[in-house]
Amino acid sequence: MIRHLLSGADLDADTATQILDTAAEMAAVAGREVKKLPALRGRTVVNLFYEDSTRTRISFEAAAKRLSADVINFSAKGSSVAKGESLKDTALTLQAMGADAVVVRHPASGAPHRLAAWVDGSVVNAGDGTHEHPTQALLDAYTMRARLGRLAGLSVAVVGDVLHSRVARSNVLLLSTLGAKVTLVGPPTLIPVDIAAALAPDTGVCYDLDAVLPSSDVVMMLRVQRERMNDSYFPSAREYARRYGLDGPRMGRLPEHAIVMHPGPMNRGMEITPEVADSPRSTIVEQVANGVSVRMAVLYLLLGGNNR
Ligand code: ASP
Repeated sequence: MIRHLLSGADLDADTATQILDTAAEMAAVAGREVKKLPALRGRTVVNLFYEDSTRTRISFEAAAKRLSADVINFSAKGSSVAKGESLKDTALTLQAMGADAVVVRHPASGAPHRLAAWVDGSVVNAGDGTHEHPTQALLDAYTMRARLGRLAGLSVAVVGDVLHSRVARSNVLLLSTLGAKVTLVGPPTLIPVDIAAALAPDTGVCYDLDAVLPSSDVVMMLRVQRERMNDSYFPSAREYARRYGLDGPRMGRLPEHAIVMHPGPMNRGMEITPEVADSPRSTIVEQVANGVSVRMAVLYLLLGGNNR
């Protein structure tokens, strides 16, 4: 098993499949009355969050607690980071406290890689800037496999603000490793030139959402990340929704078995309408539930739970 999980590229097909299979076993625990396993008793997991988060932070906390680990939640607001303490000094503090795993979210792309060099424990990237979010890609793959029965050969359209999306980047890497075919869809201003070729050989790009829908098994809608935009990438929110938003009539162009995903938080009415988000094809709530099982599997395997 790998020591850190920093990128979707850290996972080969066997390791990714082992995580997904372990997550399926963990999911069985969530259905029990007592949702706890003793696997990580006596181990310490630190959640180090320098950027806002709802789902991911709570999900990692629930995952670590269900495995009986001690959990320390650290948020940059209200800590010595606000006094200018560097990431390295914070890392050394965590090291001194004996953290077995550090789950880190940071606005700077690459921060988890730096951290991994400074601590002895495992580092899990919970989102670094516009770079990667590998556990989101794992929970997305888990959800696709649970709903559609396989990953190899699936056609997955990843739609919207690819430029600012760490979810898109990690998904392209992981899904290609697992044999799915990804098409990136969005306005040319929000799809970095050559991203497809740079990330994975089988990834395509298309600027026309309506053309892609009839042959997609999965449509993954991305949030338009306005907080990361310092330029105007499209004429107006209305124009964006008209060209790239998923509404009821567009959803009707999908094959009957196809599913609609979104990592959250959603801009309802912009990239996705409430009618679609709340429809039976939407896996948005399942993705959140699956996130806990997948993160349990990641922590369990990284911390050597299967070797003890
Ligand atoms: N929650 C995801 C992330 O942290 C997706 C998003 O924010 O749009 O990257």
